[in-house]
Amino acid sequence: MSHGTHETIREALFRASRFFEIKGVRSPQFNAEVLLQHVLGIDRTKMLVRFQEPFPEEHRAAFATAVSKRGEGVPLQHLTGEQEFYGRPFYVSGDVLIPRPETELLIERVLQERAAFDAPLIVDIGTGSGAIALTLALEWPEATVVAVDISPAALAMARRNAERLGVADRVEFLQGDLVAPILERGLRPQIVVSNPPYIPTADCEELDVEVRDHEPRLALDGGDDGLYPYRVICRELPKLWPVDGPAMVAYEVGIHQDQDVEAMISAELTSGETGIVPDWQGIGRVIW
Ligand code: GLN
Repeated sequence: MSHGTHETIREALFRASRFFEIKGVRSPQFNAEVLLQHVLGIDRTKMLVRFQEPFPEEHRAAFATAVSKRGEGVPLQHLTGEQEFYGRPFYVSGDVLIPRPETELLIERVLQERAAFDAPLIVDIGTGSGAIALTLALEWPEATVVAVDISPAALAMARRNAERLGVADRVEFLQGDLVAPILERGLRPQIVVSNPPYIPTADCEELDVEVRDHEPRLALDGGDDGLYPYRVICRELPKLWPVDGPAMVAYEVGIHQDQDVEAMISAELTSGETGIVPDWQGIGRVIW
């Protein structure tokens, strides 16, 4: 991108926003503002106050690089290094799925059951950034949480987030495939939660470029029909849950997977109920 020497912050913002528009980036103005605030290390109010000031010379190159990467489809969150989830900031990178707003529905569904459990052990399968595990630990101070991921890089990110959010003492991190580390340890969690990879393998290529080329395939590809992780977890539920007392499982699922996954849970139940929570698009998103 070319730029005049005495460009103001307002002009730099306008130019970045136009560039995003041409590149087909959604919410061009918002993206330009967030990157500018990130590069200059200022909040939105500061940015507005400084609108007419010259763009600081020493930050020009960094801003140009960030804008150009965003134009090529690098997710905004990879450029700022963060995503907010349930009102808290989480570090993210290409090693973890960027937390999505729909996943907050899973948190809410689990928290609705607070009265039924006394200091439960909660297991989060495929924790990624730790968004689910750490949010539950923070929102439910009596709970103990175990977070599992197959990816050591994801676990490192989740640990970093646990330290940042001050909850590292109540969350344990285990490396391994799905429920394997839980079974090995003989843990009996009252509550099992997961937002596993659920995109059918063949559909992974059709994903948005930003997702397909920048988010970990390991966190997206759920096998032939996308249901592989749910099959494995559901099959082991009788071995995971405590022998008596209340128990719960809650999953995030992809589009059109709600009924199949509900049936998988039902098949393992001797008593109790199941349900589906729709997201704001009407897609059955959380199965419990
Ligand atoms: N919701 C993600 C997407 O559509 C997929 C997350 C997942 O597979 N768990 O990109």
